[in-house]
Amino acid sequence: MSVGRFAPSPTGPLHFGSLVAAVASYCDARQRSGQWLLRIEDVDTTRSIKGASEHIIHTLQRYGFVWDGEIVYQSQRSDIYQQVLEQLLKQALAYPCTCSRKEISDSSILQGIEGAIYPGTCRLHPAKKDTAAAWRLKTHDIAISFEDLIQGRQQHNIATDIGDFVIKRADGLFSYQLAVVVDDALQGVTHIVRGADLLNSTTRQIFLQHILGYTTPVYAHIPLVINIQGQKLSKQTLAEPLPDDNIKDTLIAALGFLRQPIPEHLHTYPLKDIWQWAHTHWQLPLIPPANYSQGDQRW
Ligand SMILES: [Zn+2]
Repeated sequence: MSVGRFAPSPTGPLHFGSLVAAVASYCDARQRSGQWLLRIEDVDTTRSIKGASEHIIHTLQRYGFVWDGEIVYQSQRSDIYQQVLEQLLKQALAYPCTCSRKEISDSSILQGIEGAIYPGTCRLHPAKKDTAAAWRLKTHDIAISFEDLIQGRQQHNIATDIGDFVIKRADGLFSYQLAVVVDDALQGVTHIVRGADLLNSTTRQIFLQHILGYTTPVYAHIPLVINIQGQKLSKQTLAEPLPDDNIKDTLIAALGFLRQPIPEHLHTYPLKDIWQWAHTHWQLPLIPPANYSQGDQRW
């Protein structure tokens, strides 16, 4: 049984880029006759917007998505993440870190794929007392690679490209990296289709899967929808919320963005039949790797 999922963060309403990601994971799962789960990634409660989860769920329903099982909310799963952290501590695979942002930037000399690499100060010396500690995962010099179904082969050295990364923040919130790995494993997710903005996170997630004894799913990172300034559509770049009307045309535009061979009369079908067509005719290999804008209709 294959299991896919869509995992939006409730930081605002869904936009065209989120629709593209939802459509791709949904079609991929249904074409495999697999399950498709909905998970609200609200682990960072400081970024969650009140009412955004309900709005996202309502929009998905209007667009005709049908998910399997109960919706999972990361904000309700802290106990599970804490158990995993304690397991890592028992194995001496994580340690407390009390470095301030400034101390890290002052002491970091190595640059990784996402800026300065944590120099391991608190791994070598005991963390400060009476200071709220973050928890970092111990990384080591190991190459982690995987074959992305769209982006091709990816590889990082976990120590020199990423470094000891935070799995629980000093404010008590668990990191996205830990939460997503635990949830995907416990929900039995076998196929992850998501935006290419998460491509660089994947090797550290696989590293965590190895440590925790989880199976690594199949990954496909779809190109991002970018605006004419070349920025990813997001709340920060003022992406328009998905329209409440014109649903069929918007859905067909998302399928078109994913380079699916849309028949001329698809827009005349009822919504249910558009989905039927999309699930039956879904071709993941047609999706190109590079990001592009919605108006860039190259098919
Ligand atoms: Zn530290």
